[in-house]
Amino acid sequence: MKKIYQRPTITKINEGMPSKFGNRATLKAITKIDGIDVHEIINKYGSPVFVVSEKTIREKYKQAYSAFSTRYPKVQFAWSYKTNYNDAVCRIFHQQGSWAEVVSGFEYQKAINNSVAGNNIIFNGPSKSDEDLVLAINNRSLIHIDHFDELYQIIELTKTLSERPQVAIRMNMDTGVYPQWDRFGFNYDNGEAWTAINRIMMNEKMDLRGLHAHIGTYMMTPEPYKVAAFKIATLANKIKQKWQHSISYIDVGGGFASQNTLKGAYLPGTDTTPSFDQYAQAITDAILSADFDPQNMPFLFLETGRALIDDAGYLLGSVLANKRLADGRRATILDVGVNILFTSFWYEHEVYPTKETGFQTEDTILYGPLCMNIDVVRQSIKFPLLKKGDNFVIKRVGAYNMTQWMQFITLRPKIVLIDTNGEMHVIRNNETLDVFKDSEIIPEHLR
Ligand SMILES: *Cc1c(COP(=O)(O)O)cnc(C)c1O
Repeated sequence: MKKIYQRPTITKINEGMPSKFGNRATLKAITKIDGIDVHEIINKYGSPVFVVSEKTIREKYKQAYSAFSTRYPKVQFAWSYKTNYNDAVCRIFHQQGSWAEVVSGFEYQKAINNSVAGNNIIFNGPSKSDEDLVLAINNRSLIHIDHFDELYQIIELTKTLSERPQVAIRMNMDTGVYPQWDRFGFNYDNGEAWTAINRIMMNEKMDLRGLHAHIGTYMMTPEPYKVAAFKIATLANKIKQKWQHSISYIDVGGGFASQNTLKGAYLPGTDTTPSFDQYAQAITDAILSADFDPQNMPFLFLETGRALIDDAGYLLGSVLANKRLADGRRATILDVGVNILFTSFWYEHEVYPTKETGFQTEDTILYGPLCMNIDVVRQSIKFPLLKKGDNFVIKRVGAYNMTQWMQFITLRPKIVLIDTNGEMHVIRNNETLDVFKDSEIIPEHLR
């Protein structure tokens, strides 16, 4: 067979040499996911395709849940829908025992459709319409109030409803992490949260059920959670003193880091990410040492998202082409871009070949298929010399990509679930032109 011509350039070959980062990093091929050959998956469902491992989701959930439940007697997880709201994925979490944590009316409806009981839905977020709130109030869902306007909105609604709103407030606070996330909820440190609590307690038509703080995302140390949990517990006891009212739960939100590597990080995420045990230790230490009545300890709620699902997601794709940039650098064009891999804006995603490739690698830039300058999957990666048509696997893509993906320039691909028996199921179909036929309307004069 005639070989494909490539213009020659002189580049340094990285053949097994140690660098300042240590020994040669061979990219081991990923040939199988949960026992299934990746080529079989691509042949059957096309390229690119997202793959979700049910086994990994269940294992991660059990790890995280046991880290908390062994340290504290009353623990409840709520699955953060926006992290991955594919129904099959949500239902796996619900089967494991997770409630639902939603941040919009749309997500709320999804949780209801997934048969989550109304009182097992936590409704967060800064945007809740009257309609959303009425539904949540009547279902006795836990409404986490974000700002005073929402509090007044709920107070207005209580005038016409018989059901008592079950509410908590979201708080933001100084936990030693900067910049501070102060755009959501009421500020703790300047007394705003305390004002909101008093305003709620004075109202005779709603129940203050809990206190909530989601202090940030991809938190790289457990200490800020200790500070947050302690501050929340302190406030809960202040409520007890002034109002003789015990809140029933403390919700410390999500934000645990996954093992992905952030852009610009010196060490890989696999080396730096705290374990569930470390996060759990920090949080439960703070709550156990607070002044709660041992007979009446509050529930600990967790809304962890990315740390539970990132590892379960894979993105399989194919090389479209190779080229040389003007400066001689190797560029490889993939059929996967920022449109479906949104997290490549934040992470140095790990990209693996699907068969053994030998030792030769070259500093390569990985582009996506879009006709857009920003469509870069990796700015610089020591990568084997894959050819047009070769496949690759991108690891740890389960969080936020299947919700933040865009229908931009191309259509979105299928999502395939591998169940715990090694059976494959399409859990979301690829988009087709019908998306446009169904939603675009051509005015009469343009027909
Ligand atoms: C997004 C979000 C979460 C989940 O965050 P992760 O960083 O994915 O763990 C939890 N709670 C709230 C309120 C959120 O907005």
